Amino acid sequence: MFFNKVNLRLFFKQICQLCRLQPAQLNGLCEDCHADLPWRLFPCPVCGLSRTSPMADCPDCQRLQPAFDHTCVALDYRFPLTQLLPAIKYHQQLRTLGWLAPVLAAQIRDTEQALPHCLLPVPMHPWDQLRRGHNQAALLAEQLGRQLNIPVQYQALQKIRHTRKQHRLSARQRRHNLQGAFALNKPLPSHVALVDDVMTTGSTLNEIARLLKSQGVLRVDNWVIARTPESQDSTEETDEIE
Ligand SMILES: [Zn+2]
Ligand SMILES: [Zn+2]
Repeated sequence: MFFNKVNLRLFFKQICQLCRLQPAQLNGLCEDCHADLPWRLFPCPVCGLSRTSPMADCPDCQRLQPAFDHTCVALDYRFPLTQLLPAIKYHQQLRTLGWLAPVLAAQIRDTEQALPHCLLPVPMHPWDQLRRGHNQAALLAEQLGRQLNIPVQYQALQKIRHTRKQHRLSARQRRHNLQGAFALNKPLPSHVALVDDVMTTGSTLNEIARLLKSQGVLRVDNWVIARTPESQDSTEETDEIE
């Protein structure tokens, strides 16, 4: 019989992970779903915000002078990411990372930037992680590390203080909120990448980059699946993200 158990398993493994209708061709998705993803156009190579053209200067980087050196972001944080990423975070839909991680890995390869010596997932406070049961940034870093052959440092960077959600705070409040929130407990190589699922204001990644640079790291990259399309203080779609 054609649809025996083995055939069924193969069929579902090779079916598009998003529409579940067509065969998977690219990173676990069918061609249509892959093309329909909200790809980020002309991202600034430093902060990942969209610019008007590939050659345009980034006003945000000129104004904010971030401590990190490079951001690789694959997608805009809008539908379907506004549903998929919170589902990974809050509803244990971890299988989605099975195709989102290769989408980001492909983007990282395409940028042809030098690869870091190790990956650091953006940490959660230990109590928060205990309550949630997983840190989606660590799971993403694990997959990227395996796909790109880069070691992951899970414990080097720790969150030692609770912080309020960033996106409702002013720039000054954000800085105050993050002060002393992270700590580094071992020396790191000269080039590292911070890994997170979504980047909103960029303040958390900037604070961690400042800490790493003060401890001797020379280059800090950000690897994120998605970034909010607007530059700052986007609150409409980001109620559930940090
Ligand atoms: Zn599809
Ligand atoms: Zn920029």
